[in-house]
Amino acid sequence: MDTEYLIRKMEKYADEKGIPIMEKEGISFLSEFVKLNKIKNVLEIGSAIGYSAINMALVSDDVMVTTIERDKDRYIEAVKNIKNANLDHRITLVLADALDFNTNEKFDLIFIDAAKSQYLKFFNKFSKNLNPKGYIVTDNIKFHGLTFYDKTKLSRNLRQMVGKLENFINFLCDNKEFKTRFFNIGDGIAISRRRLGNNGQDNPKNK
Ligand code: SAM
Repeated sequence: MDTEYLIRKMEKYADEKGIPIMEKEGISFLSEFVKLNKIKNVLEIGSAIGYSAINMALVSDDVMVTTIERDKDRYIEAVKNIKNANLDHRITLVLADALDFNTNEKFDLIFIDAAKSQYLKFFNKFSKNLNPKGYIVTDNIKFHGLTFYDKTKLSRNLRQMVGKLENFINFLCDNKEFKTRFFNIGDGIAISRRRLGNNGQDNPKNK
């Protein structure tokens, strides 16, 4: 199937079924990031229907993606889409809760786009799978403008979720091991990279 057509079809399907996929601005940024940084292998947490995985794999013929999804229906839809895009030899889909998934593989990019309340757990669990100069990209940092805004009118569940996301953002800001830059793109994107110097100091060679 023509990939442009498939991508538009996936956007329509996600819209109709209320499945959250990356915003257009976010996906263009992510694809450009993969291209500019010559990313070769990606671990994605949260495949949904395979939209971002397919977009990243389309950047170049040598990009490999492993992507984890815990929802069976979305997983089945993603399998179908990846097959239609002829990318099943480069995208590995895993049906699992990411917190139960273990691998020793190292990745140039770890893309976190799953349950926002678990971002800190995903980051801590998978940072060992990052190549020394690799990146961890996290989507939905703004959470539709709810982070660091008045939470009094939110439901208890939403307040808790936003609170956990804010804890995660604070964790990134205070982190001695990783340096993070925040981008006001799509729903807010954070890009973290390991500091290579000692004592959490930046290594000038890494700039
Ligand atoms: N990255 C996708 C894209 O842009 O095409 C969108 C992913 S959607 C925002 C988040 C997905 O993460 C949902 O489909 C949800 O089922 C999945 N998810 C949430 N928590 C998860 C977990 N702990 N393990 C695996 N998948 C998870």
